[in-house]
Amino acid sequence: MLLCKKIKIEVSQQDAEALEFMQAKCRGLYNWWVMRLRNGERWNLKRAKKSLRESKHYDPELRCVYGKLLAEVYYRLDGAMQAFFRRVKAGEKAGFPRFKPRHQFFTLCYPAMYLEVQGNALILPTGGGGNWGPKRYQNIVAHLTEEPPDHFHEVAASRDARGNYYCSFVYDDAEQGKDDTGKTDKRQKKRKQRPLRADGIVTFDLGIKMLATGYNDQGRFYHIGGFKGYRWHNKQLDKIRSKRDKCKKKSRRYLHLSRVYKRVAEKKRRKQRDCLHKASHLIAGTLAERAVVIGDLSQRQMVMKKQEDETPKERRKRQIRNRLVYNDWGLYSFVQMLAYKCLRFGKELFIVNERDTTKMCHVCKRKKNMPLWQRTYRCENCGLVMDRDENSAVNIYERFFARPGPHTS
Ligand SMILES: [Zn+2]
Repeated sequence: MLLCKKIKIEVSQQDAEALEFMQAKCRGLYNWWVMRLRNGERWNLKRAKKSLRESKHYDPELRCVYGKLLAEVYYRLDGAMQAFFRRVKAGEKAGFPRFKPRHQFFTLCYPAMYLEVQGNALILPTGGGGNWGPKRYQNIVAHLTEEPPDHFHEVAASRDARGNYYCSFVYDDAEQGKDDTGKTDKRQKKRKQRPLRADGIVTFDLGIKMLATGYNDQGRFYHIGGFKGYRWHNKQLDKIRSKRDKCKKKSRRYLHLSRVYKRVAEKKRRKQRDCLHKASHLIAGTLAERAVVIGDLSQRQMVMKKQEDETPKERRKRQIRNRLVYNDWGLYSFVQMLAYKCLRFGKELFIVNERDTTKMCHVCKRKKNMPLWQRTYRCENCGLVMDRDENSAVNIYERFFARPGPHTS
């Protein structure tokens, strides 16, 4: 299957300038088209691509941008437009393609066949040269800090908030290690197959306090805790921001605190991501059950709506909770990681309706309200006392078998 490896690159000052110049020009072209489409112009990929010649005539600096990158801009916009049309057709929230903001790096997509790896350096072409006139920027030499995958397909150059540059390599994991080089053995050893129980089934309840609580066909529970440090990090971030906002804008201290803020925020994001990767890898790669079942998250209403006459305490509670759901939880990316990792390890992922699974007692099926702070399920009817997430995982397990077959996703 297709996977992606993101590798940090080191570039010279001048090469960084070239990257910045090209991404700014690509973004300009993209935004110019978004503006035209917003004004009611019809989108046609072929015609748009043909208009590049005119655009170059209007802005000769476009000639200094590598042509394949400019072509990619049209495909990217086409992707955004097609997604927009699909959403309109499906009656979802339409969401017209947006302008790309100036403070964000516009990702540059290089098709692989024009790229060249020399040792640990990747050559990223720039525009101009030969028949195309003088080159304003020399080809970029990107020093890779890790080994790139074999036979990669395309490469995207990007920058993070702190100004580090990266190359993301798309590759097929089936094509790896075909060459007779020393590194082959090491790779194969690393990807040892774990024993699988073909009839094994594990269901997971996904939550905020406990990232995933599992229950399997042998009656065993799994508890996978999530990223713990978001409270500490949020406190730090709030403190830094409030300090910064007291300074004069663009002053030395202001800029310094902005940098610190970015660094801490990045660290938090990285830790959180890493945690989700590890948890999904554990479920997809390490556990022996071949089938993994989770609840359908689209049914869940986690975000709190603003009340008409809320007290300051309620307001604070809503803010904390919504920040948790939107910024810190990362459940949606967790499910996506789980989906591709299951595919990769040859497991099946099922998604079942999870309505009322936290409210229902798994023994007598009685329902009762369960506010989020109640961590233990106590059934007044049959006397069941159980962790709320465990109860929910058992409910999902029983629901998975109760639903009409065939049991496929
Ligand atoms: Zn009960």
